[in-house]
Amino acid sequence: MSRSLKPAEEKKNTRLVSGDTAPAAALKRVMPMLRDDDTLFAALIARDPSYEGFAYVGVKTTGIFCRLTCPARKPKRHNVVFFSCRDAAQDAGFRPCLRCKPLDLKRPASGALDALRDKIRSEPEKRWSAEDVKALGYDPSTVRRAFQREYGITFAQYARSQRLGLAVNTLQQGGSVMDAQLDAGYESGSGFRDAISRLIGDAPIRASMRQILTADWLDTPIGAMLAVADDAGVHLLEFAERKALPTEIERLRKRVGPISFGHHPMLDRLAHAMEQYFAGRSLSFDVPVVQRGTPFEATVWNALQQIPAGTTRSYGEIARLIDRPDAPRAVARANGSNQVAIIVPCHRVIGADGSLTGYGGKIWRKQWLLEHERRVATTFSKGSEA
Ligand SMILES: [Zn+2]
Repeated sequence: MSRSLKPAEEKKNTRLVSGDTAPAAALKRVMPMLRDDDTLFAALIARDPSYEGFAYVGVKTTGIFCRLTCPARKPKRHNVVFFSCRDAAQDAGFRPCLRCKPLDLKRPASGALDALRDKIRSEPEKRWSAEDVKALGYDPSTVRRAFQREYGITFAQYARSQRLGLAVNTLQQGGSVMDAQLDAGYESGSGFRDAISRLIGDAPIRASMRQILTADWLDTPIGAMLAVADDAGVHLLEFAERKALPTEIERLRKRVGPISFGHHPMLDRLAHAMEQYFAGRSLSFDVPVVQRGTPFEATVWNALQQIPAGTTRSYGEIARLIDRPDAPRAVARANGSNQVAIIVPCHRVIGADGSLTGYGGKIWRKQWLLEHERRVATTFSKGSEA
């Protein structure tokens, strides 16, 4: 765990000053989130997820405290009080809400989503239909929306990816094509081959001979991420909502090889590191990253990994750092083409004027990650001084 993090400069002023002419120190400051009561109340009404973990609401009439994203009916403005952490709410005598479970690290996804995910895991070989969803007492369109929101795919597609993952694992372990077929629940061999081909870009009989990248979903407090890895390291880590994701998967498949859902020790290692990161126990990663790009991109990605957690840099600063002061735009492009989010911290690069600029995984997540790192880095530096 890296204890060498520099203290993040705390400043009440929420506007980052700027221009490349401003002192570098000013640019290293990470913007604390705006959190006056009016802003928080608006976020409460909007069920804005960007305050997840940074703000809680106590409802005076019930003595209960919630996440701002709680699905329950929203209280009146004069009945609420805001807290910046769970402990403060509890110290003030509020009890945690049973619906949004503010004491749990992970925000509960919709109840249906959690329950169905468990069902799929318990019967991974089953072919799930809208009828099955209905039979379990859920509204198929609500379920479709919940999966779409969380993973960017439908429930049926999610179930299918799990099913195919199982089949491909069987193949890799030397199982016969027939077993894999049965696992996948496909009646006809050609149907199965077609599905596998679409997914990993090769016929199953040859699947075990080629290098296979393994994919899986990782759940984080700010949404699902798709992770792709092999023995060498992590090739891709992106939020499910990222628009460029299908293109990136295609590129990876072309440059490296077929991808299939399944289990892999590197993914377990990554999942553990991500858990540590989101729990605020460590902001550094010792998971190897394998990312193919142009030499310029590789230089930029390497520079990104030198930005200490809890701080930010401008595109211009990175350009100067890699001795290409003329190329801030190219740096911005290389930053945007990074496909191993968080570990290669492209979110730590902001506009010269302090604006957050773009983030493929959505701006609110960039804000969330910076705020999370600022807080954790501050805690570490206080800890090491004590
Ligand atoms: Zn609640």
